Amino acid sequence: MLVVSHIADVKSYINQQRSAGKKIGFVPTMGALHEGHLSLIYEARKHNDIVTASIFVNPIQFNNPGDLEKYPRTEENDCRMLEQAGCDMVFIPNVKEMYPEEVKKTYDFGNLETVMEGQFRPGHFNGVAIVVKKLFDIFTPHQAFFGQKDFQQLAIIRRMVELENIPVEVIGCPTLREIDGLAMSSRNIRLSENQRKSAPFIFKMLELANQLLPETEVIEVHQHIVDKFANHPDFELEYFEICNAITLQPIKSLNDAEEVVACVAAYMGEVRLIDNRMMKP
Ligand code: AMP
Repeated sequence: MLVVSHIADVKSYINQQRSAGKKIGFVPTMGALHEGHLSLIYEARKHNDIVTASIFVNPIQFNNPGDLEKYPRTEENDCRMLEQAGCDMVFIPNVKEMYPEEVKKTYDFGNLETVMEGQFRPGHFNGVAIVVKKLFDIFTPHQAFFGQKDFQQLAIIRRMVELENIPVEVIGCPTLREIDGLAMSSRNIRLSENQRKSAPFIFKMLELANQLLPETEVIEVHQHIVDKFANHPDFELEYFEICNAITLQPIKSLNDAEEVVACVAAYMGEVRLIDNRMMKP
């Protein structure tokens, strides 16, 4: 696997591959890789001749400096995992390489960014969109792979691609979970042993919402889950929302949307975890 840290080297590699008629798949990450990330690499492998990835902890998408500072960095191990998973090239730039000057662009994602992550992490999605646009410009991939674990992020990226007219196919991939249901996340390694034991509660609540929804009003299910979190000593709930899976706006009744998703963000101590599940009443 080729490991590069300069944009020019990525471009020359991609040019070579494109001239040889190869189809390029791309998986952007922030490192601290786990099986969830690798599932995107495997998916990219299935549909492309060349699989590329990036590892970049993007400072402009962190609204909390402590979170950025504590973000796990495990580069050597990440490279080993990527290589074993069949990645052909990984780009690991430093901040100066990506942002030689201050970035000023502001996207307007309308209502997509006023709810959930957008509401609680101001500026987060603008930072995500800027870095993904920049990476798409560098890699010019035919396909790019993102996890549904970050459901709202996927919607934002699809919208950014539309706004910018980028000729890339954005592919959403299912969330990989630990055996006990906890969504795999780079942040899980920051959980204490006890927190780790309680963490699957998040997924249990999503499952419970799914079980209750067919026969219970959306508003009641919402309140029930919010109360459950309030009564759990290990969690501080930031939001739990039952939404239209396309517009991401909260719904009042199941008839308000063809596809429904429940999304949650909760703190365990200082660690912020998110998860979501499609509701299939
Ligand atoms: P991150 O490194 O957290 O920015 O994630 C990089 C990509 O991996 C994003 O598209 C995430 O949605 C995806 N991802 C993270 N966790 C998982 C998971 N448990 N299952 C599938 N994809 C994931």
